[in-house]
Amino acid sequence: MPTLDTGHVPASDALFARARAVTPGGVNSPVRAFNAVGGTPRFIREAKGPWLTDVDGNRYVDLICSWGPMLLGHAHPEVQAAVQAAVARGTSYGTPTEPEVELAEAIVRRTPVEEVRFVSSGTEATMSAIRLARGFTGRDVVIKFAGCYHGHVDALLASAGSGLATFAVPGTPGVPASSTELTLVLPYNDRSAVDKAFEEYGDRIACLITEAAPGNMGVVPPADGFNGFLADICRRHGALFISDEVMTGFRASREGAWGLDGRPEGWTPDLMTFGKVMGGGFPAAAFGGRADIMQRLSPVGPVYQAGTLSGNPVATTAGLATLRLATDEVYAHIGAAADTVKSAASEALTAAGVPHVVQSVGTMFSIFLTEQPVADFAGASTTDVAAYAAFFHAMLGRGVYLPPSAYEAWFLSSAHDDEAVDTILAALPDAAQAAA
Ligand code: PLP
Repeated sequence: MPTLDTGHVPASDALFARARAVTPGGVNSPVRAFNAVGGTPRFIREAKGPWLTDVDGNRYVDLICSWGPMLLGHAHPEVQAAVQAAVARGTSYGTPTEPEVELAEAIVRRTPVEEVRFVSSGTEATMSAIRLARGFTGRDVVIKFAGCYHGHVDALLASAGSGLATFAVPGTPGVPASSTELTLVLPYNDRSAVDKAFEEYGDRIACLITEAAPGNMGVVPPADGFNGFLADICRRHGALFISDEVMTGFRASREGAWGLDGRPEGWTPDLMTFGKVMGGGFPAAAFGGRADIMQRLSPVGPVYQAGTLSGNPVATTAGLATLRLATDEVYAHIGAAADTVKSAASEALTAAGVPHVVQSVGTMFSIFLTEQPVADFAGASTTDVAAYAAFFHAMLGRGVYLPPSAYEAWFLSSAHDDEAVDTILAALPDAAQAAA
């Protein structure tokens, strides 16, 4: 494998040095760093449509799309106009506003939730949903799956205990054992592990939370009927089924991942969480679900939850503009572009003799550099991270900004036009050779 060419980017290098002096690792979210691939993260000066321009003046086709939110590409003129008008009216009042109501109505129309509550990040959404589930059921145990990420909630930064259906241990220093001792971490797509957990702890389980279709270990589709099975076993045991659609919501399809299997199979989550696309590039997220559960939240019910900037009028205006523009044609365009990129990547990797697995859920996809099946975190972990680093830098050097980690979804937008897709296709053969 060739030595990594991490690029000549003096302006990014200079900013990165300044950033590291005042911010741990020079980044405000670890995944932005290039720790997994080496080199300097590009500091972006501006973005338009599918293109990012860094402070050195290099242009890249963006396959990160802010880790999902930019469904319509960057600086969409209609979203920008709506946001500019909202800013001109003032940016936060701490009182109810019309855009919050309209965005809540839009979410209720597109998903099975009956009521929603806005928060400012996906982490807050999952944290609040779990509190509500515990408050509603009067139970304390939470189930999650290894490899599913639900934000940096203490109880969910947990690693599996010593055996199936044993309680978890903290997944990071700083999380006390007491925060994870009520969390069970199970292998994804494993029905027997779920059965066993419910057999053993059924009457203590408040909720099971899962990514509706995991994207945080790379894209790992739920096995046929798996989500329906989870919904059913939760219902039978009086636990709540929380489907985390922070990443997939309004992204995997018009109705998120639920639109791909929930609606067709006829199951409904008790609670759902959303973020990313619904904020249109601003900090906005939500949790929602059955009205009788949501009615347990303060100020109507006893379960406390609050937020100074929750439902912020600029963020909700951006989200509303994005959802209004997110028509069937948008999803069809992204799906077609994703299909083109997936086949070209697979062809290039095959030609270079690089083992790989391509997986998608609706318009979201990942390419794992492995020959193992990828149905869970153990499978995803077999990906060749050194080969991915070489692939990543070869793409970057040819004007394509992929996620700087082998375990992420690749995101496209409706702004990814022929020029953007052709730039990706042109870079793939060399990048595949670099990974060989
Ligand atoms: N849930 C899922 C499925 C996510 O992908 C993420 C973030 O990537 C979160 C929750 C946390 O969201 P945030 O980063 O906005 O806190």
